[in-house]
Amino acid sequence: MSHSLVTMSYIVAAILFILSLSGLSNQETSRKGNYFGMLGMVIAIIATGFSVSMDAFGLLIAAIVIGGSIGARAASVVAMTQMPELVAIMHSLVGMAAVLVGYANFMDSTITVVGVEKTIHELEIYIGILIGAVTFSGSVIAFCKLSEKISGKPLLLPARHFLNLAILIAVVISGAVFLQQTEGDVGSLPFLTHGGALPLVIMTVLALAFGVHMVMAIGGADMPVVVSMLNSYSGWAAAATGFMLSNDLLIVTGALVGSSGAILSYIMCNAMNRNFISVIAGGFGTASGGEAAVIEGEVQPVTAEETALLLKEAKTIMIIPGYGMAVAQAQHTVYEITKLLREKGKKVGFGIHPVAGRMPGHMNVLLAEAKVPYDIVYEMDEINDDFPHVEVSIVIGANDIVNPSALDDPNSPIAGMPVLECWKGGTTIVLKRSMASGYAGVGNPLFVMENTRMLFGDANATMQAVLKALKD
Ligand code: NDP
Repeated sequence: MSHSLVTMSYIVAAILFILSLSGLSNQETSRKGNYFGMLGMVIAIIATGFSVSMDAFGLLIAAIVIGGSIGARAASVVAMTQMPELVAIMHSLVGMAAVLVGYANFMDSTITVVGVEKTIHELEIYIGILIGAVTFSGSVIAFCKLSEKISGKPLLLPARHFLNLAILIAVVISGAVFLQQTEGDVGSLPFLTHGGALPLVIMTVLALAFGVHMVMAIGGADMPVVVSMLNSYSGWAAAATGFMLSNDLLIVTGALVGSSGAILSYIMCNAMNRNFISVIAGGFGTASGGEAAVIEGEVQPVTAEETALLLKEAKTIMIIPGYGMAVAQAQHTVYEITKLLREKGKKVGFGIHPVAGRMPGHMNVLLAEAKVPYDIVYEMDEINDDFPHVEVSIVIGANDIVNPSALDDPNSPIAGMPVLECWKGGTTIVLKRSMASGYAGVGNPLFVMENTRMLFGDANATMQAVLKALKD
C-alpha cells in the first residue's frame, strides 16, 4: 500500500473513532458508536499491516492472533460484575506497551536522528516510559482493589505528600541527567553501557512506585475517579507510544482517549463533589480525623408479599439500582416488574447515581441490556428534587449512593458526596442480603429510618418473589 493510501486510511480511521466517541455519549446511539469504533480499528490494523515490511508483517499477524484470542477469550468469559476489573487490567497493558516500546526505541540502533530531533526523540522516550509505568502499576493496584484482592481502604503513609514531591523532583533530575548522557550517544551499545540507561531505569522504578502509592492512597468511594483517570492515562500512554513510533493515528487515538478520560474524571469529581487534585494526592475524605457515626436504631424487615402490596397501592415509584443489582443480575426481573406496574398505570422511573456500581455507566449498561426504555431512566440531578412526590422507592443492591450520612455526617469518608435522597419520599424498600456496608465501608442510617423497610435476600430472588406476588 502506498504511503498516501496508508495516511488516508488513518484519517478515515481517526474520523470513525471521533464518530464512535460521539455515538457512545448517548444511550440511543451507543451501539452505532461501537460499530464505528470497530470499523475504525479494522481499517487501522489493515493499514498498519500494509505499511510494515514483509518480515514485520509475519510478526504483526502472529501478535494479532495471539493477543486477539486472549482478549476475545477474556472478554467472553468475564462476568458482568468483573467488567470493571477487566477494564483496569486492560489499561495496565497499554501502560506496559508504552514502557516496552520506550525501551525498544531507546535501544534501537537504527534510529539515527541528531541534534534537536535527537533530544526530542529522547524526551518522547522518557515521557512515554514515565506515563506508561505510572499507568501500568496504578492499573494493577486498581485491578486488585476492584476485585477485592486487596482492601479498598486507603493506605495513608505519614509523609505521603512529601514522598510524592520527592518522587517528582527525582524524576525531573533523572530526566535532565538522561538527556545529558544520551547526547552524542549513537545508540549501538549494549543496554547497560548505553548512555542514559541508569537514569532511565531509576525513573521507571520511581514511576512504578508512584503508580502503586497513588492508587493505594485512594479510599473506596473515590475509586471511580481513579478508574476514569487511569483510562485517561492509558490514552496519553498510547499517544506517547505514537510519538515514539512516529504513528500519527496512534497519537490521535491516544489523545482522544486521554482527553475524553480526563473529561470523564472531571465529571466524576463534580458528581462526587471532590477536588481532582485532592483525590490524586490521596486520602481525600479521610482528613477529617474523626470516626464515622455508629448506626443505631431498629431495622424493619418486610416480605415480598408486603412489598408487592405497597407497590400496588403506590402511584409513583422510583427504582434505584446499585452494585448489588449487577451481582444478582436482577435487571431482567426488575424490568418485568416495571412493565407490569406501568401497565397498571403507575409512574415508574429509574434514578441513576453517577458512581453506582463499579464503573462509569455500569447501571445504564445493565438497564440497556434488559431493554428498559431510555426515557424512564433519569440522572441523579434530574430527579433528586422529586423524591418528596415519590410514594415508594425501591433500592436494589445499592448502599453508598443512598447514604444520608454523606450529607449530614462531616466525619464520614463519603462526606460531601451527593446521594439519591430517597428517604424524603413515602416508603423506601431496600433490597440486600444483610446489614453489610457498601464499597466505602461505612454504615448507612437509611436502613434504620422510620419510613424504610428492609427486604433481605438475593435481589433477583426477592424481585422474582415480588413479581409473583404482584401477578397473584
Ligand atoms: P455499594 O457497594 O455501596 O453497595 C452494594 C450493596 O449491594 C451492598 O451493600 C450489598 O449488601 C448489596 N448486594 C451485593 N450483592 C447483592 C445481591 N446478590 N443481592 C442483593 N444485594 C446485594 O454499591 P453502590 O452502587 O451503592 O455504590 C457504588 C460504590 O462503589 C460507591 O462507593 C462508589 O464510589 C464505588 N465505586 C464506583 C465505581 C464506579 O465507577 N461506578 C468504581 C469503583 C468504586 P449485602 O452484602 O448485604 O447484600
